Amino acid sequence: MAWTGDPVWLADVLRAEGLKVIEHDGWRDRGHGDFLDIRGVICHHTAGGGPNDWKIVQYGRSDLPGPLAQLVLERDGTFRIVAVGVCWHAGRGSHPGWPTNNANFHTIGIEAVNNGTGQDWPAVQLDAYKRGVAAILRKIGRGANDCVAHREYSSEGKIDPFGIDMDAFRRDVAHLIANPSGAKPVTDTEILRDLRAQLTGSADPGKYPGWKQLGGRTVVDALALIGEKLGIEGFKAP
Ligand SMILES: [Zn+2]
Repeated sequence: MAWTGDPVWLADVLRAEGLKVIEHDGWRDRGHGDFLDIRGVICHHTAGGGPNDWKIVQYGRSDLPGPLAQLVLERDGTFRIVAVGVCWHAGRGSHPGWPTNNANFHTIGIEAVNNGTGQDWPAVQLDAYKRGVAAILRKIGRGANDCVAHREYSSEGKIDPFGIDMDAFRRDVAHLIANPSGAKPVTDTEILRDLRAQLTGSADPGKYPGWKQLGGRTVVDALALIGEKLGIEGFKAP
């Protein structure tokens, strides 16, 4: 079973993974029509390598109208969300479980900023790449095998993303799918701090400043006063 319809959740899912996200104006309305079902992610490089690469992805080229991918991944690990609908990124090719020569209607494209001729992949960008892919695949209920390099999918001689070992990449993605990196377990200490703050108006031990909206009383003192006013047995204002 796959996700059906447009990935309206892209910004939320990436943010929940702890990733930096820029939502481009109008991304929720941008695309070449609606998705059928989403079965995976295709990884690309932009072939530019600079801070303006996203403009071609969003607006397209003279021979191919944008958007050319849903996501752009900057070299500092920030994801730009460009479009929610179908984008022209896959071209012709095949992958088990995907319809041949029709991946645009079934995959999310990520264009990572890299010149594709040997420019390095900063660790922060590569890390965000894997975590972003993992977050998407987890959301659509797919495994790391549905994270595919454009060069693996394409029958048109594509080379992207150049310089990334996809088997190692997928091993890390598989681990990340099972271990969300954004979700940090809440500790007992954090719960106690929250409770103390709720009751006393301060998270600091030994401080009982009370709440402005309760006339400077703590929650317990305010409750006691209300009970006394109502004549409830045993309630006694301090
Ligand atoms: Zn590509």
